[in-house]
Amino acid sequence: MSTHAVTLTGWGRIAPSTAELAEPASDAEAAALLRRAATGQGGAVIPRGLGRSYNNAAQSAGGTVLLTRRLNRILGLDTATGVAVCEAGVSLEQLMVAGLPAGWFVPVSPGTRQVTIGGAIAADVHGKNHHVAGSFAGHVRSFDLLLPDGRQRTVTPDDELFWATAGGMGLTGLITRAAVQLKRVATSLVKVDTVRTADIDETMAVLAEHDRRYGYTVAWSDSLARGRGLGRSIITSGDFAAPGDLPPARRDDPFGFDPRARLGAPAAFPPGLINRYTVRVANEAWYRKAPRLRTAELQTIGQFFHPLDGIRNWNRVYGPGGFRQYQYVVPFGAEAAVRRSFEMVSAHPAPSFVTVLKRFGEGDQGLLSFPAPGWTLALDFPARTPGLGPLLDRLDDLVVRNGGRVYLAKDSRVRASALEEMYPRLPEFRKVRAEIDPAGVLGSDLSRRLGLLRQPRDRRAPAAGAACPAPRILASYEYPTGYAPGYPTMIT
Ligand SMILES: Cc1cc2nc3c(=O)[nH]c(=O)nc-3n(C[C@H](O)[C@H](O)[C@H](O)COP(=O)(O)OP(=O)(O)OC[C@H]3O[C@@H](n4cnc5c(N)ncnc54)[C@H](O)[C@@H]3O)c2cc1C
Repeated sequence: MSTHAVTLTGWGRIAPSTAELAEPASDAEAAALLRRAATGQGGAVIPRGLGRSYNNAAQSAGGTVLLTRRLNRILGLDTATGVAVCEAGVSLEQLMVAGLPAGWFVPVSPGTRQVTIGGAIAADVHGKNHHVAGSFAGHVRSFDLLLPDGRQRTVTPDDELFWATAGGMGLTGLITRAAVQLKRVATSLVKVDTVRTADIDETMAVLAEHDRRYGYTVAWSDSLARGRGLGRSIITSGDFAAPGDLPPARRDDPFGFDPRARLGAPAAFPPGLINRYTVRVANEAWYRKAPRLRTAELQTIGQFFHPLDGIRNWNRVYGPGGFRQYQYVVPFGAEAAVRRSFEMVSAHPAPSFVTVLKRFGEGDQGLLSFPAPGWTLALDFPARTPGLGPLLDRLDDLVVRNGGRVYLAKDSRVRASALEEMYPRLPEFRKVRAEIDPAGVLGSDLSRRLGLLRQPRDRRAPAAGAACPAPRILASYEYPTGYAPGYPTMIT
């Protein structure tokens, strides 16, 4: 199949690299591309979904990027059990449009629904319900994986390859389809309680209490507040509403869902729009506007889960220099490290526009999965902020000292040596990799920067796995009139 050269970035719009782009429409086409790479033609191959990882996990300079845009069919949805079988390029938005009319929602949703099933498994994404639901892979019954040599395997949670792939950032093969258990909901609205906290101690105390009371909870924090206001936040927590909670006008449409973005960002913003002054003004206004306490507010899925999806291409607001996301988790007991990171960020010229604090529950068996029990903090900064690198290095040191780790789907600069301390199961991951990809077919800009794939050269390829059975079609599925799955802004 034909390929063409493109320059790609992740959502943060930094670190562009050029690769051959291939858009296979079938397993056979994707397998042929992998086999060709296995003969040594071209550079390393990496899958790519909707390009919503923040940096270069889905890029391969001088190699081939396998885009799953054309593998975008929902093959079946069992409305009795909520099991959806879909191709890997299906987005979470597509699954919502398909499932909600029958009362099924995605089991885990990150802060954007423009994420593919392949990307959700490969990064083992988490959402506001991690403390009760864990991360995405925990809801996957099985998936089909095209190995680097083009053979297919169906893997289940009983297989080591499943847990090497969940969180494995596309480095074990191309997921082509998956069976996902959706979550039963009674309506498509969320009943939300909002609490405004005065400082970091109150923020952490309320988050801990809300983990016990709500299925979904998160804090949006003011990263620039100092002194007595350090770590002040707006905490929103909730659960899907019951039919009786709906206003009369919504009762005949309890599962209504409008996925359209409301606004489009201009194509270009001036550099420097996000700076310490504008972020301080925005934070102050947003904090003052929030109620001290508000209960039982009904919010749409878009308002509660994906407020940033309401503005198409909001990532352009950072200007041509792009932005870096930084997310860590540190274990419970390391509360002083969380406080210290707020002190470090608020004392630094770098403004974090979107600052989110949350508690994770138990992690899963993913060898490189990010979530682990503890506190997770996400920050984002204009990439060109002077002194940003040293600030993030100091945060890395703090995280490592406290037994934590940073999230690979967002990382753009962690040191390879720090990574080995953060991910103690990295040697197990490398061992699986060495077995399934002795020729080094797969690789990404991220894996090269971090030395993720260091592996012994004398490993033999394993025996061929079971052939992939044809997917079991549970019920054929068609989109409602007027909805066309969109694939916005993947390519710069
Ligand atoms: C606004 C915003 C909010 C976000 N909020 C969260 C959040 O709350 N929680 C969270 O966990 N993440 C969050 N993310 C990150 C995002 O969920 C992950 O990066 C996710 O992996 C992106 O999916 P994608 O389809 O865009 O994959 P891409 O970005 O295209 O790729 C991500 C990784 O998945 C691999 N991959 C993609 N498709 C396949 C496939 N078919 N087979 C094998 N590997 C594949 C790629 O090689 C790459 O390593 C957020 C991102 C944005 C932009």
